[in-house]
Amino acid sequence: MISLGLEDKVILVTGGNRGIGAAIVSLLEELGTKVAYTHRSDSNDHYGALAIQADVTDSIAMETVAEKVEHKLGPIYGIVANAGITRDNFFPKLKVDDWDEVIDTNLKGVYNTLMPVIPKMYERREGSIVCISSISGERGNIGQTNYAASKAAVIGLTKSLALEAARYGVRANAVAPGFIETDMVKSVPDKVKERILSEIPFRRFGKPEEVAWAVAFLLSPIASSYVTGEVLRVNGAHHT
Ligand code: NDP
Repeated sequence: MISLGLEDKVILVTGGNRGIGAAIVSLLEELGTKVAYTHRSDSNDHYGALAIQADVTDSIAMETVAEKVEHKLGPIYGIVANAGITRDNFFPKLKVDDWDEVIDTNLKGVYNTLMPVIPKMYERREGSIVCISSISGERGNIGQTNYAASKAAVIGLTKSLALEAARYGVRANAVAPGFIETDMVKSVPDKVKERILSEIPFRRFGKPEEVAWAVAFLLSPIASSYVTGEVLRVNGAHHT
């Protein structure tokens, strides 16, 4: 029997209560990992995983998350920086609060999530980081200047971190999903959804589980041991 080598590894997933994050938590549990996940709202309705309520924009709260996870489950091997939001609007109408909230959550939230753990990974000389970017960060998207900027920045962060972390045996990669069936996409107007579908060669949106498998691959110390600084697209050939 072949395994991904994730059994008993401790992995922290941000925004794990729904959508793509929830699918990642479920799959990691099935793969035998010790999973901890954060959620911002009260909705928290699944798994035997360790659930911690914390806002990724709060650096102190995220330090406490790292401490709690290591205290309860052991040294963190993997991080999936997944929590993210959209606040879409055409650029001239984009309010500064919507700009700030998206950058604070999608970009600074990644910094806040990684910072308490990376030095420990360097000391332990092992670790795998997976940041969730987006097709919008790679090719832009109408109505998403704020979101696309945050997700492009996540790719820059990940690639730079991969270069720095390699000497410590730590890997950093990004996953760039296309349009995936979650609450985030449910909020897109039907007309826009139809247009998007017509642009996707697979003629369907992706499923959260399909992103989760890409994340599991990149976390795996066996399957992706020589893969770092990469952006793995999961988008049905929407952007190649
Ligand atoms: P959802 O809206 O379904 O879920 C978002 C998750 O992020 C929730 O768990 C939410 O927690 C959490 N979250 C949001 N803000 C914060 C915060 N400040 N602190 C902590 N947690 C927070 O989104 P998806 O599952 O669709 O998206 C997951 C990731 O994938 C995001 O980074 C998104 O940008 C990215 N992505 C999604 C795509 C899609 O088509 N769905 C395409 C490309 C990328 P809570 O429920 O408590 O609010």
